Amino acid sequence: DTAPLWLFADQLGPHVWDTEEFAGREIVIVESTRALGRRRHHRQKLHLVLSGMRHLAEQLGDRATYLRTDTYREALEQVGRPVVVHQPTSFPASDMVRRFVKEGLVTEVRPTPTFALGKDEFDDWAGDRETFRMEEFYRAQRERFSVLMDGEKPVGGKWNYDHDNRESPPKGAERLEVKAPWKPREDGIDEQVRADLDAAGYPTVGNDGPRRFAVTHEEATRALRHFVRHRLDTFGPYEDAVLEQDWAMAHSLLSVPMNLGALHPLEAVHAAEQAYHDGGARLSSVEGFVRQILGWREYVWQLYWRFGRGYTRRNHLRARTPLPDWWTDLDADAVTANCLSHALGGVRDRGWTHHIPRLMILGNHAMQRGYRPAELNDWFATAFVDGFAWVMPANVIGMSQHADGGRMATKPYASGGAYIDRMTDLCSGCAFDPKVRVGEKACPFTAGYWQFVHRHEEMLAGNNRTARAVATMKRLTDLDALLEQESAREEF
Ligand code: SF4
Repeated sequence: DTAPLWLFADQLGPHVWDTEEFAGREIVIVESTRALGRRRHHRQKLHLVLSGMRHLAEQLGDRATYLRTDTYREALEQVGRPVVVHQPTSFPASDMVRRFVKEGLVTEVRPTPTFALGKDEFDDWAGDRETFRMEEFYRAQRERFSVLMDGEKPVGGKWNYDHDNRESPPKGAERLEVKAPWKPREDGIDEQVRADLDAAGYPTVGNDGPRRFAVTHEEATRALRHFVRHRLDTFGPYEDAVLEQDWAMAHSLLSVPMNLGALHPLEAVHAAEQAYHDGGARLSSVEGFVRQILGWREYVWQLYWRFGRGYTRRNHLRARTPLPDWWTDLDADAVTANCLSHALGGVRDRGWTHHIPRLMILGNHAMQRGYRPAELNDWFATAFVDGFAWVMPANVIGMSQHADGGRMATKPYASGGAYIDRMTDLCSGCAFDPKVRVGEKACPFTAGYWQFVHRHEEMLAGNNRTARAVATMKRLTDLDALLEQESAREEF
């Protein structure tokens, strides 16, 4: 069979096109203006996607047929013979491919090659369970792929080193003492992408900026090597910490190349494991990193299919507030709360913040204020450079907003300003005070937390992991004033 292989923009790595089956095969890559302009994406996300596709086409040389068309259909018609494709990573793209199969434009659909675990194996593991806990899945993954295993036992005797990975940021430090992340060198392709995006007039959000993430397999390999050698050891302890002046902390910045399919997750996992065996990184850091990739990332991917299309419409907490314009426009300067402004500014300037600003600041605020989960899900999927359709539902609807009523998380991830104060250096530069609930300096996260507890009192009282918050709320002497203040609050 010599049908050309059609690659989607998130299937860019050699594990997709340089396998035994496809070695030497003609490769079709399509820039569809309709697909690129359909939603309002972060400007830098479009840049990364186009840069990745065009770099791959350059690398493949004569092997690649690179088409710029309005739609995918037009491109496939231009190819003139049926193509093979790998199962794409979203429901809408799968529907499209299914139509193309019916119409004879696609002759065969191979399984998605950009994750460690196959769908069938996940289905075997999941059986008919309704609720899912990541820890169980993660342990099964460690065993399945023999990662950090000592026979049948986890290396070091424990599966989970989270306890060592919750350090506050180092006191008084502006930045972590760790080598700066790997940075790509932009080339003529990036220059052309920038010019094309300036001219194209796609709806975008956020600022343009230098490319910060790897988009080819070669770049991703270098970024991975640099991370493992210089940053992985520091990753664990500070993975949940935020410093105002240090946007990357010790994070790997590999979510972009991984979600573009340029880097296979097991390459990253194996490199980290090797660093532990070579004495280059402490076990708690390596385990934390492996947990994010072999555990969490694989888990949300599988749950995207498992939970199905209706999942993003779940709204267990009946959150009805539309996302405000300052939020969707990434207008960080319109925000007084330093933590919120910092997180939103990171999205505006880079299309990226690490998981703690996403969860503890942005997601927490959105849940406290009752933002509509489906809108929030779309926002995360389009305003972040590593956001793709499959990435956000389990993260946003499940983990962050508790909109699925607990299929994924045992309790809502809500917290007040004290927690933000502990894990960041942002409160010292803020007009609000995390300890103050009522009055001019009342922290919107602290007050917002109690307002949230009050609003969902019944549900939280019925859960033994959150019942104590309700009891504490009932003892607050200033609760009425707080509720009045928060329901009138229009700016943050
Ligand atoms: Fe955020 Fe409150 Fe701290 Fe200000 S005081 S940075 S609003 S948590």
